[in-house]
Amino acid sequence: MTVKIGVLALQGAVSEHIKALKDSGAETIAVKDASQLEELDGLVLPGGESTTMRRLMDKYGLFDAIKIFAKKKAIFGTCAGLILMAKEIEGRKGPHLGLLDIDVKRNAFGSQVDSFESDLKIDHVAESFDGVFIRAPYIKKVGPGVEILSTYNQHIVACRQGRFLACAFHPELTGDTHFHEYFVKITKENK
Ligand code: GLN
Repeated sequence: MTVKIGVLALQGAVSEHIKALKDSGAETIAVKDASQLEELDGLVLPGGESTTMRRLMDKYGLFDAIKIFAKKKAIFGTCAGLILMAKEIEGRKGPHLGLLDIDVKRNAFGSQVDSFESDLKIDHVAESFDGVFIRAPYIKKVGPGVEILSTYNQHIVACRQGRFLACAFHPELTGDTHFHEYFVKITKENK
């Protein structure tokens, strides 16, 4: 079975996600318009700046469309994408999409450590994965239906809740496709 997975193309490392999804056996397109969602089985929300991405989603009519899409389809959020999916964001009144039962803190590793790399163990994905963190959030708390997949210094940095997958780092920047392969598998199971 093949699945078609879009990458939200408002901001961020879109072409890197597209390449990783192709290498993981999925068909893929860059999504700029809500009508494109109709043909998709899954969607990637890339990194970037969550408040800017939200503004652009509203501007292009994608916010409501993605909320409807999420009722049945698989979604994978990386970094800012994870923030967009969270039910609670520290210091912000109300969520964006509010799909994942998690509390997140933005820019959580401090402005001193803007970006860093760390070797991560990720359940179902890899014993050793190069985690690239760029002004990354972390997950402070998860609800009962959320599976924790990876931690870094006791902070939760990857999780799954049913057809929703999220991580605080940038798997598309490493050339290692294991994380994307896991999302393709989730998307197939959900189809
Ligand atoms: N700091 C960004 C935010 O709060 C996320 C950074 C990223 O996606 N690399 O939205």
